[in-house]
Amino acid sequence: MSCAAAMAAGCDGGGVDRALASGAMRARALDDAMDAEGGACAALVREVMHAAAADGGGDGLSATSSSAALKAMRARAVSELETRAKTMRALADARVATAQGAYDAVDEAITKLDRDLAVFEEAVRARDRSYDDLAVRNVGALGDADAASPASGGFVGSGAYDAPMANPNEPTYCICQQVSFGEMIACENDDCPIEWYHFACVGLSVKNKVKGKWICPTCKKRESSRR
Ligand SMILES: [Zn+2]
Ligand SMILES: [Zn+2]
Repeated sequence: MSCAAAMAAGCDGGGVDRALASGAMRARALDDAMDAEGGACAALVREVMHAAAADGGGDGLSATSSSAALKAMRARAVSELETRAKTMRALADARVATAQGAYDAVDEAITKLDRDLAVFEEAVRARDRSYDDLAVRNVGALGDADAASPASGGFVGSGAYDAPMANPNEPTYCICQQVSFGEMIACENDDCPIEWYHFACVGLSVKNKVKGKWICPTCKKRESSRR
């Protein structure tokens, strides 16, 4: 695929580049903060050990240190170490979240790339097809849909990639994410995420039209999960 063709298919990859760059920057900042916390803890322990050695015995952090001043210093050090440990725990959690964010960005980019490639390849194939060939295929797809029960609400995907696809920038609809073609039906749910569906993709046909209100499988599933 040429560069221009790839751009036309919408796979510019810019989004994932930015997401990964900002993720890497956050990860570096978190690593630096973690190093600083670790360094501060080590310095604190060294400081108490020094004081203990100067005091003439004990390891400073064991509770057997003799002088009252050293005991007070140890108590302060322990509470500071606890605070820093909490901070490091929070930094570690943020670091994990950053890694997950990078993974999600890549995952999303791969999904989008697959979708764009399918649309692009279909556009190339459709260009070479005659109109008669398309008409035969679409009638065939609707015929298949007749066999499936529309009441089952199941997805009938036959013919999804046989849609004529002249322009890859045309808006897409339906569960199959293809351009509009043939008979379409609108979901009556006002905040439907998709709105328009191909008859064949939702198990309908010209002969088997819906009477009254039609709610798409996505909205039906949402409704029943809300109840
Ligand atoms: Zn809907
Ligand atoms: Zn469809």
